This record gives sequence, structure tokens and C-alpha cells, in this order.
Amino acid sequence: MIPGARLVILGRQGAGKGTQCVRLSRHYVVPHVSTGDMLRAAVKEGSELGRKARAIMDDGGLVPDDVMIDIVADRLARDDSRTRGYILDGFPRTVGQAEALGEVTAEQPLHAVIDLDVAEEVVLRRIADRRVCTDCGTNYSVHAPPRYDWTCDVCGGEVRQRDDDTEEAVRRRLDLYRKQTAPLIEWYAERRLLEVVDGLGATDDVTKRLVAAVDARTRRGFAAGR
Ligand code: ADP
Repeated sequence: MIPGARLVILGRQGAGKGTQCVRLSRHYVVPHVSTGDMLRAAVKEGSELGRKARAIMDDGGLVPDDVMIDIVADRLARDDSRTRGYILDGFPRTVGQAEALGEVTAEQPLHAVIDLDVAEEVVLRRIADRRVCTDCGTNYSVHAPPRYDWTCDVCGGEVRQRDDDTEEAVRRRLDLYRKQTAPLIEWYAERRLLEVVDGLGATDDVTKRLVAAVDARTRRGFAAGR
């Protein structure tokens, strides 16, 4: 049986976390827990959480820590996460969230925290080109669109620019990343959990680097691509 993994992926907006997390989730057979996707699903459903989160997200702000911590704690308490693990994408984003995650994972600690590193000037270009399926969240770009007329190859949903990928909201999110999330890189390095992986280059190459970094941490060493 393929061993699972408990991972956090950090990285700037547009570093490729969404795309790579889907691949890692298939590789390690663990759920991809994306707080952005969970919030977007809540917005679509029109739930109370969705109504509260929508304005904050469109503005490029952060949903309050206590709300996010409850959502993630509930998700990680589910059977699949407890038995196989998870890949956390978009959480933690603040030191407060990282501290809370430490408590939630006290019994089953993280294997690794990966910083998927891509420079700010590169992500700005990538986000401007990014297009996303409004149903399943699959990422595309104007240079690599879906096969048919902005219809998602995976689920048939509508592919378009995200509501919060406006220039102003992107600037605000990158600013918040610098101030609130980048300090987590040092925070996890001090706790000896951090692996920095270069996020530049072909998607397959980045996946191989990520798998190598995770395997080195978990000392499992099974071959990439399986
Ligand atoms: P990005 O990384 O491009 O900003 P995400 O899909 O991860 O996109 O998140 C979209 C939005 O959802 C964020 O801008 C923020 O408003 C909200 N969000 C997601 N995760 C968190 C979190 N852990 N804490 C606070 N807000 C969050």
C-alpha cells in the first residue's frame, strides 16, 4: 500500500500550489484540503459562511482566523485525513493559524511544510494569465486553455478568470502574503519542518522535485510518478 502523508504547502499566490497539490494528492492518495476551494464552494452554495466570506475574498482580504481554524479542524478530523493524511493548501496563512494547526495535529504531527518558491514578478504574470474552472477549480491559463471553448476538460464547467484575480485584489493578497504568511517560512524552519522547493520550470519537473522533498522527509523513497 502507498503510504500517506501529512503536508502543508506554502507559496505565493500563483506559485502553482493548486496544480501541484492535485498531483501530490493523487501520488500519495491523500485528500487535497484547499481552504480557498472550500470557501469558494461555500460562496457558490450561498451558505452563511459563503455570504460572510465573499466580500472579504473579492477584496483580497483574509477570513478571520477563528473561522478558518474551525473549518480546517473539522476537515482534518474526518476519517480519510486521520488514516491517510492530507495536503493542506492555503492554510495556515498566519502565525495564529499555524499555532492552532500545531494543536490540532499534536497526536499526528506534520511530516513536512513545503515552500513552493516562485519570485513575485513571475507570479504577477502567471496570475494575469490564469483561468480557473468555476465548478471543480482546475487551473488553466490563456497559454494552456481547455480543449473546447473555455469548457473544463475535467468536469465540463465554465472556465474563466477568478473574481479575486483583479489587479487590486492580487496586490492586496501578495501584500498580505508578505506580511502574514511569509513569516511562517522562518517559523517552520525553526521547527525543522521546512523544505524549500523551486517552483520554476515545467510542471512535471516541479512535481518530481516536490515528491523528492517529501520522500526525503518521510524516508519512504518510492518512485516518482506512481
Ligand atoms: P490565493 O492563494 O490565490 O489567494 P486561495 O484560493 O488560497 O487563493 O484563497 C482565496 C481567498 O480565500 C483568500 O484570498 C482569502 O480571502 C481566503 N482564504 C483562503 N484560505 C484562507 C486562510 N487560511 N485564512 C484566511 N483567509 C483564507
